[in-house]
Amino acid sequence: NEFVKEEFSKGALRNKTVEDILTPVRDCFMLSAGAVLDFSTMSQIMQSGYTRIPVYEEERSNIVDILYVKDLGLVDPDDCTPLSTITKFYNHPLHFVFNDTKLDAVLEEFKRGKSHMAIVQKVNNEGEGDPFYEVMGLVTLEDVIEIIIKSE
Ligand code: ATP
Ligand code: ATP
Repeated sequence: NEFVKEEFSKGALRNKTVEDILTPVRDCFMLSAGAVLDFSTMSQIMQSGYTRIPVYEEERSNIVDILYVKDLGLVDPDDCTPLSTITKFYNHPLHFVFNDTKLDAVLEEFKRGKSHMAIVQKVNNEGEGDPFYEVMGLVTLEDVIEIIIKSE
């Protein structure tokens, strides 16, 4: 805790935003809400190595759920369980933050909440139509800790 306070004073967490450190949406390992948990899909999940996997509907920019790999513990690939059965059962909350959120604020949120991942979105008001929320990527506690360690 003292360590973190020291970093606050150095400004590393105060000056950077989640946009500076996020994993862009094109690099995110995600699943479609319509996926089936067969052998092929479950192998891909295991090979990805990630613990938390965003779930999108229709487009990758429309994230609607999150799968924790530990939720798959009792899933038998031979049953071809729909992914939505699992995500509906566990129903983990999704956390969103805006792209201009400072790292100290998102760190506080990670400490308060139970989730260590947030989906980063921005308001897109380019173009003709109404402004809309656009997903830019994801950020995890690990990404923030990396900044703390680097700025040491
Ligand atoms: P844990 O360490 O809690 O098991 P993890 O290894 O899945 O989780 P993190 O350690 O939180 O993931 O993050 C490591 C890096 O991977 C971070 O840069 C983070 O942004 C990125 N990341 C996490 N989940 C995904 C994902 N589903 N797709 C792409 N990148 C991810
Ligand atoms: P993750 O958050 O990556 O899913 P986790 O919830 O299993 O992992 P951590 O978040 O790393 O575990 O740790 C949370 C707390 O639980 C820590 O205090 C840690 O020491 C403790 N802990 C972790 N694994 C065990 C375990 N097998 N038995 C008892 N305590 C554990």
